[in-house]
Amino acid sequence: KPASDAIITADETGRIIYCNGIVEQILGVPCRDIVGQPLTVLMPERFHAAHRAGFARFLATREPTIMGRPIELVARHRNGTEVPVELTLASWESGGRVFFTGILRDITARKLAEAVLTDKMDELARTNAELGLFTYVVSHDLREPLRTVSGNIQLLERRLGDQLNEDARKQIGFAIGGVQRMQALIEDLLVYSRVGTEGQPFAPVDMDEVLRTVKSNLHAAIAESHGQVTSDELPTVHADRTQMVQLFQNLIANGLKFHRGSAPLVHVTGRGEGDAWLFAVRDLGIGIETQYAEHVFTIFQRLHTDEFPGTGIGLSVCRRIIERHRGRIWVESEPGAGSTFWFTIPRRKA
Ligand code: ADP
Repeated sequence: KPASDAIITADETGRIIYCNGIVEQILGVPCRDIVGQPLTVLMPERFHAAHRAGFARFLATREPTIMGRPIELVARHRNGTEVPVELTLASWESGGRVFFTGILRDITARKLAEAVLTDKMDELARTNAELGLFTYVVSHDLREPLRTVSGNIQLLERRLGDQLNEDARKQIGFAIGGVQRMQALIEDLLVYSRVGTEGQPFAPVDMDEVLRTVKSNLHAAIAESHGQVTSDELPTVHADRTQMVQLFQNLIANGLKFHRGSAPLVHVTGRGEGDAWLFAVRDLGIGIETQYAEHVFTIFQRLHTDEFPGTGIGLSVCRRIIERHRGRIWVESEPGAGSTFWFTIPRRKA
C-alpha cells in the first residue's frame, strides 16, 4: 500500500516548517502554500482557540496530554469541507528548539463504515425491542381470553354432566388439554420476554443460597421423582439473583425430568476459571446426541416431544440470561449416560 499518511512538522511558534505531498491529497492544499503558515490553517475555525491554548500549555508544562497516541479529529479541506482524520503527534528537540511532527491519516472511509454500522446496530436494537414488546403484549393479552375459554369449557362440562356421552367427554378433555398446553406456552413466553425487559441490576449473589431456593422451589419435583440434587460449595458471583434462580431452576428441573429408570441424580459445581466463574449442572439421565447440542438452546426446540412434557422454552431462557450476563452456555453429553450443562459468568472487573 503506498504511503497514505500526511506528515507535517511545526516549530515552537506553531508555524508549519515542513509537510509531505500527501497533505495535498487529503486537504487539497500544496505544501508550498502552507509552509510558514500557522497550524490553524488546517483546522476548522471552532477549534482554533482550543488549539492555541493546548499549544501554550504544552510549551509551559511539557505534559504530553495528546502526544504519542492516535486521536480522532476533523481537519479543514481547502474547499471548506471538513475531513475526519486520525492524528498522531510527537514533539522533539533539536538545537535547543522544540518541534512538533504530526502524522495525519484520512479516516473518511472508516468513519462512513462506522456510521453505517451504528445505524445498523440502532436498527437492530429497535427491532429487538419491538419484538420483545410484541412477544410480551401478545403473551400477556392472550392469557385473558384463554382463561375465558378454559373456564367456559369446564363450566359446560359441569352443567351438561350426565348428558355427555363418552365421546363428548373425551373431546372436552382434549380441548382442556390444549388450552392448558397453550397456557403453559404463554407463561413461558412471558418469562422469556421478561429476561430482557425486567432484568435487575447486578449485585453479589451467593450461588449456594440460590441453589437452596431452587431446591425448595423444586421440592415437589424432587420428591415425586425420588431424585437427589447435590452440590459442591458454590461461589458468589456478580449477577441478577432472580435470573440465577431461573437459570439453576430450569437446568436442574431438566436434569430431574429427562431420565428413565432409576431415580435422577443432579450434581451442581462452580469454580473460578480464568476471568470467569464456571458452573456445571450434571445429570445421569438420557443424554443428548452431539448433533443436537446447539439445537436444544433454540426456542421451541424439543427432542423428546411425546415422552416428556415441556414447552421447549426453558433452555432458551437460560441462554438469554447467560447472554445478558455476558457469559457462555453449552452442553456436553453422552447419550444414555447423562448430560453436563456448563455455563460461565464473568468475574467482575476490579
Ligand atoms: P423443555 O424442557 O420444556 O422441553 P428446554 O428448552 O428446557 O425445554 O429443553 C429443550 C430440549 O432439550 C428438551 O425438550 C430435551 O429434549 C432436551 N434437554 C434439555 N435438558 C436435558 C437434559 N438434562 N437431558 C437430556 N435432554 C435434555
